[in-house]
Amino acid sequence: MSALQAKDITVAFDKVRVLEDLNVEIPTGKITALVGGNGSGKTTLLRVLSRLLKPTGGTAYLDGNAIAHLPPREIARRLGILPQSPVAPEGMTVRELVAQGRYPYQTWYRQWSEEDEEMVQKALETTHLTELAERQVEHLSGGQRQRVWIAMALAQNTPILLLDEPTTYLDLAHQVEILDLLDELNAREGRTIVMVLHDLNQACRYAHHIVVLQKGTIVASGDPCEVITEELVRGAFGIECRLIADPLTGTPLCVPSMRRTNCDNCVMRTIPPKVSVS
Ligand code: ADP
Repeated sequence: MSALQAKDITVAFDKVRVLEDLNVEIPTGKITALVGGNGSGKTTLLRVLSRLLKPTGGTAYLDGNAIAHLPPREIARRLGILPQSPVAPEGMTVRELVAQGRYPYQTWYRQWSEEDEEMVQKALETTHLTELAERQVEHLSGGQRQRVWIAMALAQNTPILLLDEPTTYLDLAHQVEILDLLDELNAREGRTIVMVLHDLNQACRYAHHIVVLQKGTIVASGDPCEVITEELVRGAFGIECRLIADPLTGTPLCVPSMRRTNCDNCVMRTIPPKVSVS
């Protein structure tokens, strides 16, 4: 059984339907990417799966139980969430924010413990933030801040992680670093990861399972190597493209068409050069 499922989900805002009868099963222990054009419903679906948003119709299930009926603390022990563009309270340090991830484990009789301390330390180390632990979050760069939020979700130590565009604000090197980190958490610890990604090529590289949304419905889902086609990209993203095999991973690599197709200076061109280079 899939740990996270959504059945017959409909979401409407002011009677405008933005998700229409969606059915999703998130494979346990795998990385799932939600992709689609702007406004296709990715964030809304992620919010339904994490109980941040109550659907107009249908039910989301966590470990077979309707998520709407589970106590928030119990959900927080199983689901870690990185929302889109989170804002840290003013003056909060990196360590303090990461420590918030331990909140679901605290009760009136069980205060801050050695285990909490260890989990915070581990999350800081994994995200390479130990040196920045005493800095205020608001003084960090966008990329560093994003890592702090990921560290908080890691400190929560949940078997499932839901992330809405975890690579936003990051330059290419840091994007790869974060995606490699999530990949490692999945491979080493078997965590189930669901993330909204803008970049289709990154999604194809990192996800075992891809869910493609278009205008509030799912138009494809499965192994990226099996479901991504030029026709699907045309429909879901509104672009013409050529799909080639990623030279490093063999996964689909979408090369969008452009009006001008030749570049005289580029040594990496795959179309025939005007003058042969020997
Ligand atoms: P995506 O993540 O794919 O860009 P979203 O899930 O954010 O798409 O949004 C899907 C649609 O729902 C968009 O048309 C957006 O404007 C609309 N929408 C999302 N949240 C709200 C809201 N709180 N109120 C009204 N409309 C919303």
